[in-house]
Amino acid sequence: MVGAGDIGVEVIRNLGLMGIGQVEVFDWDRYVAEALRHRYAVHEGDFWDRLTLDRLRTFDFAVGTIDDPAARTRLNQKCLVANVNLLQVWTEDDVAMVGAYPFGSLDDCACYECAADRDAVAMPIASLKLTVDGSPSMTPAGVQVTTSSIAGALAAALLARIAAGSHGRVARRASIDATTGAGRSIELHRDAGCVRCAGLVRPVAIVHTRNCWAVSPAVARACPETLDEYVQLSDEVEGLPGRSFKVRELADRYRGGAIPAKFALATVGGRAVCLDFEDLVEATPRTDARAPARSRPAK
Ligand SMILES: [Zn+2]
Repeated sequence: MVGAGDIGVEVIRNLGLMGIGQVEVFDWDRYVAEALRHRYAVHEGDFWDRLTLDRLRTFDFAVGTIDDPAARTRLNQKCLVANVNLLQVWTEDDVAMVGAYPFGSLDDCACYECAADRDAVAMPIASLKLTVDGSPSMTPAGVQVTTSSIAGALAAALLARIAAGSHGRVARRASIDATTGAGRSIELHRDAGCVRCAGLVRPVAIVHTRNCWAVSPAVARACPETLDEYVQLSDEVEGLPGRSFKVRELADRYRGGAIPAKFALATVGGRAVCLDFEDLVEATPRTDARAPARSRPAK
């Protein structure tokens, strides 16, 4: 669970009702998640740092309940590469929104940044407001609580469907208007022009490697074409526009040093490979043992 605000707490509560109690919580603010600490493992700080690819791969699901759309795209980015099922849950005014992306079981799954997903945002044509003479209409805060509650229940329901394998093997955006009760559920298909997943052949092989960019003269002589290969960085780097760079550019710029990025995507023999710069020391002995474990279907 990334984000422990109103929606995150509602998702956890609904998962608990379904008997799912093994949840770890990541939140930027230590006080937000304080009430969950007695039952769940709570991790403070930026999930981008704390929830490494290796750690993410040990989970069956990641659930993002984050307000910030930029943070949602970062969670999408990590789950795509780590091959972990993702649910994004949020509210827009009175509408509870849940995007379900079963990356773990669907190699050509649409992602959170695919255009089809953006088009699927529910836009209620009219909002029905009920007021009864003599009684106050629902306050905005009341509507917000209700919407968060509905979002949490909807997310838990979709998670259970994916886990049971009854999801129809498709990404889906579901929404419920907390005021009118109107609901929509839309299948999402992969966008060939997606900035994040177009051309990405999943599942991605993850290779732990040192974040050290230097080209030895021997390599430059023996296989100079390697230097013209492109790698896509996980992070935007100050002073470098874009995210795709030739190995040669990076080696010239960093000269044996580290790139300020969590990981980089490269293509080797037509296959996507993630060069993971995190967890090298911890992960090296376990790499082989872990690979088959992720290929089993979610229970
Ligand atoms: Zn996409």
